[in-house]
Amino acid sequence: MSVSERESLTGTLIFELGSDESSCVEPPASDVPEVSLDAALGGRVRKKRAALPHVTEVDLARHYERLASANFGVDSGFYPLGSCTMKYNPRVDEWACHLPGFSGTHPYQPEATVQGALELMWGLQELLAEIAGLPAVTLQPAAGAHGELTGLLTIRAYHTANGDARKRVLVPDSAHGTNPATVAMCGYEAVQVPSDERGGVDLGALRSLLGSDVAAVMLTNPNTLGLFDENILEITAAVHEAGALAYCDGANLNAILGKTRPGDMGFDALHINLHKTFATPHGGGGPGAGPVAVTDALAPFLPGPIVGCSADGAFTFKMPEHSIGRVRSFAGNFGVLVRAYTYIRALGASGVPEVAEQAVLSANYLKELLRDAWILPYDRICKHEFVLSGGRMRKEHGVRTLDVAKRLLDYGIHPPTIYFPMIVDEAIMIEPTETESKATLDRFAEVMLRIAQEAAEQPDLLHEAPHSTPVRRLDEAAAVKSPDLAWRPQEGAGALER
Ligand SMILES: *Cc1c(COP(=O)(O)O)cnc(C)c1O
Repeated sequence: MSVSERESLTGTLIFELGSDESSCVEPPASDVPEVSLDAALGGRVRKKRAALPHVTEVDLARHYERLASANFGVDSGFYPLGSCTMKYNPRVDEWACHLPGFSGTHPYQPEATVQGALELMWGLQELLAEIAGLPAVTLQPAAGAHGELTGLLTIRAYHTANGDARKRVLVPDSAHGTNPATVAMCGYEAVQVPSDERGGVDLGALRSLLGSDVAAVMLTNPNTLGLFDENILEITAAVHEAGALAYCDGANLNAILGKTRPGDMGFDALHINLHKTFATPHGGGGPGAGPVAVTDALAPFLPGPIVGCSADGAFTFKMPEHSIGRVRSFAGNFGVLVRAYTYIRALGASGVPEVAEQAVLSANYLKELLRDAWILPYDRICKHEFVLSGGRMRKEHGVRTLDVAKRLLDYGIHPPTIYFPMIVDEAIMIEPTETESKATLDRFAEVMLRIAQEAAEQPDLLHEAPHSTPVRRLDEAAAVKSPDLAWRPQEGAGALER
């Protein structure tokens, strides 16, 4: 490989780097008797050496650094991905979860040797219970959707214990796709509740759907339009009157943190996305944590183990009396729990509500700057996010929300969530979060308005965007449905004779 080739390696695979002579591992000399693996495995060891890359440590470091810089993350630039809460992850959280006392523990260690880790989990349970306004918490679930599943299974166990077989779960039409999916996973039938003209639950429609076969209502408040449901107390009262329970999708907790509590709104169960609200790097599939908080009535059914604190101050794992069992191995995604605990303790009781204040202020500020260039379908004060419609831009200039999203990449901005929620035509859902400066918000608004102007003046510029990224427009359906991520050695190449 020539020097110039080596210097423009964006598309180079690790397998194409290095040579047979290079290596970055030097195993220590063996101090045990040698055995023949081939003999031990009955002659089944491969006859050719595996075609593994041979690179030096520095080439390895540069290769992954190059790949990382082709990606976009919260540390690269503004990332206003609505509903997903992509906010800055304070470095102190990383420091804490890498402390050897936390990162070096083994899940099979005796409890007496991990009292600090258990105390942290217990403390987090207590903090989340206070934030949720619900007394009992399990830290087991590994994601938001997993929390939904856990919460609904807990509700089902409660109804079953009461001899009350119920079949349906009501879900608004603005809900995150995981909500109806969770309902189906739990063996319930999902029934859609329409939204009213203010973007909240249509109370009349909800009342007409409630009945003795409804197990629960799953709500997101504030919902995925970024709107707080003004009728929430009436809604939860109606749900309880019908003998059903109220489940809150707490993925949007960022908006109300320390301001109001789902428990006070009448919810019986709530999952919290620690990776969104309490700052763990997420995206691309994890890691996450989706603790579930419930009322006293549901507490005996929660999955365990839950950390308890005995009178003498010892921390210990325990299983709730009628537990639905484990939903995850060991103690959950412990590293994410350490980050969340650190995040909350670093902000303190006065800092936590400021998260909500800043997030809501930022969203309303951007909403006002952008509302005239798009359509604002629900003209209300929003919470942490707001949804615009690109319907007019499509009709007048043939430019779709997808084109706008792709064009944002050329300006170094990650696109907002698009085409969700589905009740808004050409939806664009913007969540700035509390961690962005006014200067960043102003630049984003300026770029969005410039793109609106481009849409009117040179629509093809948008149709063909992005122009500056390592890859242009992908066939997204094919990329999802038939990804080909495997490297295959060319016949004869790489695979050396032993
Ligand atoms: C992100 C999100 C979920 C799912 O959470 P995961 O951790 O991605 O499984 C559920 N509901 C809403 C509203 C969300 O934004």
